[in-house]
Amino acid sequence: MFPGIDTGTFAGPPAATAVFTTVLTEGPVSRVALARRLGLSSAAVTKAARPLIDLGYLHELAATERSGPGAGRPASPLAVRAEREFFLGVKITADEVIGVVCDLRAQVHASARRPLDDPDIDAVLTEIDRLADDLLDAFPGDRTRVRRLGLALSGDIDRGIGLVRYSPFLHWRDVPLGRLASQRTGLTVTVENDVKALTAAEHWFGEGVGAESFALVTVGTGIGCGLVVNGRLVSGSYGVAGEIGHLTVDATGPDCHCGGRGCVESIAGTDAIVAQARDRTGRPDLTINEAVALARGGHEQVRGIFARAGGAIGCGIAAVANLVGPTRIVVSGEGLAAYDLFDSHIRASFERQAFGAAARCPLSIRPLPFEEWARAAAAVSIQSLVVP
Ligand SMILES: [Zn+2]
Repeated sequence: MFPGIDTGTFAGPPAATAVFTTVLTEGPVSRVALARRLGLSSAAVTKAARPLIDLGYLHELAATERSGPGAGRPASPLAVRAEREFFLGVKITADEVIGVVCDLRAQVHASARRPLDDPDIDAVLTEIDRLADDLLDAFPGDRTRVRRLGLALSGDIDRGIGLVRYSPFLHWRDVPLGRLASQRTGLTVTVENDVKALTAAEHWFGEGVGAESFALVTVGTGIGCGLVVNGRLVSGSYGVAGEIGHLTVDATGPDCHCGGRGCVESIAGTDAIVAQARDRTGRPDLTINEAVALARGGHEQVRGIFARAGGAIGCGIAAVANLVGPTRIVVSGEGLAAYDLFDSHIRASFERQAFGAAARCPLSIRPLPFEEWARAAAAVSIQSLVVP
């Protein structure tokens, strides 16, 4: 059967998956266009769509187009019933959980936040459960249609089994978060690395729809990167593909929390910038906001720290362009609040290190609030309908 709303599993045939994914991500599509796009016969499209229509996931719009001059009966495009099912998405940060309720097309219907005082797994599960209650209370729709929860956090995540292998900011290793959160909330839970979740959301519902290849780079506490190659999100065999934060850009550089040396993140992550700024200014309590203010005020040594950080980030982005050749690269993240301090250094270093035509790859810069990350977690949960 198709999307196991009751079983939480998907066991549909590939044609049904392809039809559902295409209609979901690209909007109303006629059967003729679907058949052409997917290389299926019209009869196969009709057969694949039937159970999706019966289960209420797809519906036929009123006939508005003809397949050609003098062609027979007009085509009725297939569209997603966005309110067939709703999804919770939660982004976990070091000190807060941020959540949203989305429909099937990843439109946000409610949002909420809760502070996180304790990184202990049990305390985090309690806050996730409370946040889920808050979200359902705020959600104006039919809460019995909420069956799934997507969780996104930074670190080394095995999405397939819902395992957090390593979370540097929560200090977790090998935590089966998917199973534990499912037991606590009673929902079907998906867990994904936050940057990969954001990339997946862009791929299905944002700038990446239809793109063969693109990359998303995030700048902040961590330096992350999500990659889409040949239309697919790349996870890599061990789930850590695209970790540009841990590319070495200076083999004699500072030690990194990952155990490596001279990683992009050890130079350009927020903690690294703060540590360097404290060292240069002799102010052991300096915050990132104070470091930004000093740099903007013209403090040469602190400006130099941001310049070096921008250079390291640009090297990382250039490595992505050289290895993968994406059509475009989106740069985002909470560190972008100080983008004026990084911008020219990122671009200069990218242009210097990108090989040949790879330097033509446009960098687009877009700030994203944490609710967008939560929406991305929900998008991964939506994907789990058809991509186990
Ligand atoms: Zn590292």
